[in-house]
Amino acid sequence: MSKPHLPETTLGPPDASNLVTAPTSTHASDLQQWGNYLEKFYQLPRYTYKSERKSKTNVIVETLKRMQRFFGLNETGKPNEETLEMMRKPRCGVPDSGGFMRTPGNPKWEKTQLTYRIVNYTPNLTRMDIEALIEEAFKVWSDVSPLTFNRTLDKEADIQISFAQKDHGDNSPFDGPDGILAHAFQPGPGIGGDVHFDAEETWTKTPENYNLFPVAAHEFGHSLGLAHSSDPGALMYPNYAFSDPSTYTLHQDDINGIQAIYGPSSNPVQPTGPTTPTACDPRLTFDAITTLRGETLFFKDKYVWRKHPRLRMIEFNLISLYWPSLPNGIQAAYEDFDRDLIFVFKGTQYWALSGYDTQQGYPKHISNYGFPSSVQAIDAAVSYRGKTYFFVNYQFWRYDDQSQSMEPGYPQSIEEFFPGINSRVDAVFQENSFFLFFSGPRYHAFDFHARRITRVGKSNRWLNCRYS
Ligand SMILES: [Zn+2]
Ligand SMILES: [Zn+2]
Repeated sequence: MSKPHLPETTLGPPDASNLVTAPTSTHASDLQQWGNYLEKFYQLPRYTYKSERKSKTNVIVETLKRMQRFFGLNETGKPNEETLEMMRKPRCGVPDSGGFMRTPGNPKWEKTQLTYRIVNYTPNLTRMDIEALIEEAFKVWSDVSPLTFNRTLDKEADIQISFAQKDHGDNSPFDGPDGILAHAFQPGPGIGGDVHFDAEETWTKTPENYNLFPVAAHEFGHSLGLAHSSDPGALMYPNYAFSDPSTYTLHQDDINGIQAIYGPSSNPVQPTGPTTPTACDPRLTFDAITTLRGETLFFKDKYVWRKHPRLRMIEFNLISLYWPSLPNGIQAAYEDFDRDLIFVFKGTQYWALSGYDTQQGYPKHISNYGFPSSVQAIDAAVSYRGKTYFFVNYQFWRYDDQSQSMEPGYPQSIEEFFPGINSRVDAVFQENSFFLFFSGPRYHAFDFHARRITRVGKSNRWLNCRYS
């Protein structure tokens, strides 16, 4: 259920029709919808969008821009399709303060030994499962801080955890399935620290929506005094992303946040977490690159940058936000222009994507392309004029898109066919008659017809970093 559906126009070339509708020309019902989002999460005063008069448009535009900045979208100040799509994603009910690591006012617990009580349960999971997932979610925070969490049946427990629906007496009603999944209160007496889950969601312990673990761990961050982070890799990012408790490691942004409040872990070896790649890191490398309907997608770990051909802004987000069923660590990708699909590869598996939709029947095995069983992974792939080139170590294969078969006489040496390309290829894509080869932190522009390299530079030049 409830895979966020994104209309394919949002992945099309960003022409004028994509960046539509100033607030004043929007349908009243749409305005109610996104006005409501901005009111709930960005403190947009209700009268500005409920009023018939248009005099408050500036306030709306500025608030929209703040929201767009938080999510790394183009700051148009207009409710364009990608902005509306971001607003439709399942998320936490706590507002986005934007740029503040901690909750305004810096509330915190004045003790490190905290207690929690599970007030009621959801019928979707057994009590044992719920208790285990909650315990795992607390462990995320106790592992990296001096805090401890003990479950109690005591009604005076610091953190009261419950499942509730619609209006449940705290002025923050839930909204039924999807939308807002949960919310939590900052540290303090009474309702302070408490966590409410929307009882109308389907709660799971699997990758199906919505796994209780990441939502609980996120909400406990609020219970401890953290606000939302705009780092898409952080647990405190407001949108839902699945994660598996058995392999989960807390992001460094969250570790920094909790330690800023409560100090370092009592563990003699200070824990560290993964960090989010930054476009202008001079050591930045890519896993895979492909064009898609005029944009260029750069894959790295669990992230993807989207570069629009005519806009300066480059979007950055989790792969799972666009394609929830794709794995992290994509190794190769290419666009099939005739079929309007992109194909992405990891190990011996590949997936076909049409815009934001993953095609049925995937992943499939790369033996479908005619690779021998000795090929266990593809480094890079690119399609040009009806042929697809697959790079594996120091050799490449060529596949005929029309006849859907591997051409005879392959693999061949990359360096012989592409003089100057003499290291393994991380990623490749095509622009005009150039193949752009990426190896480590450098790229080579290869003129396919002149058969030579015409330009060399830093990989992240493609993400508009000129001074690294
Ligand atoms: Zn939250
Ligand atoms: Zn509540």
